[in-house]
Amino acid sequence: MNTFTPTETPTPGVTHSRGVERLVQGQATSDGAGVRLTRLLTQDLQRRLDPFLMLDLFGTDNPGDYIGGFPDHPHRGFETITYMLQGRMRHRDSAGNEGLLVPGSVQWMTAGRGVIHSEMPEQEDGAMEGFQLWLNLPAGAKMREPWYRDVSSAEVPEWHGPGADVRVIAGHSHGVAGAVQREHTEPLYLDLHLQPGVRFEQPLPAGHHAFLVVYRGSLSVGGAASGTVVRPRRMAILDEPSGSDGVVLEAGVDGVRAILVAGRPLKEPIAQYGPFVMNTQQEIFQAVEDFRAGRLA
Ligand code: FE
Repeated sequence: MNTFTPTETPTPGVTHSRGVERLVQGQATSDGAGVRLTRLLTQDLQRRLDPFLMLDLFGTDNPGDYIGGFPDHPHRGFETITYMLQGRMRHRDSAGNEGLLVPGSVQWMTAGRGVIHSEMPEQEDGAMEGFQLWLNLPAGAKMREPWYRDVSSAEVPEWHGPGADVRVIAGHSHGVAGAVQREHTEPLYLDLHLQPGVRFEQPLPAGHHAFLVVYRGSLSVGGAASGTVVRPRRMAILDEPSGSDGVVLEAGVDGVRAILVAGRPLKEPIAQYGPFVMNTQQEIFQAVEDFRAGRLA
């Protein structure tokens, strides 16, 4: 029995909430060796959601949809953040890193000048569910040395309020510092678990691009009465009315689980060819050449 009173949730002072600019259904696609997924942040949204380049949601209990995994492939010029909800995935890369992603854990990989890695399911049946987000690097950091961290589920900092459990993967929420911080893009990455009817407020700096994805239940954005309702497997791009200082979310009757992501745009040119994201076409040619010549690993 829940004893909380939703109106007593401490408020960090969001007075003017952002709303929903657009709901995105995403595109069913497959990647790696036939892994079926939903691409919610597609290439046409890269400028709108700068510094974020891609967001995939994978979620299935059919092994045929994931068993092929993602065999060896390269990356250069950005960071990948994988957040597992269900299932087990083994990661290995050319820098000698290896890790096992399990439910609730996060893998943060900075590809920098280059990494070749594989991400393979370590199960033959059962459900596999999670997110992979691509975060851009500023021009001056695209060729930095690769970096990698596995964050176990127990290591993900959490904030607990009445009816609210918030996992802080990156950035800050209600005084809790997330597992990873980044200075140029200042990413915020929260996993929200809210009981039915609970309100949650998150300050967001003006100018930062923000979106959320519901994966269980539903929520409304911008205040209960007038809020836009977001349902599972939908991405809501948040607008930024002048004077807004954050976002107010309210869980629906079944509660909600959702990720909330925001970051400071880099406002730099984006040149992408598959797993390489640089600033110019010349840098892309160089990346392809370096990969072919075995200089990426
Ligand atoms: Fe990858």
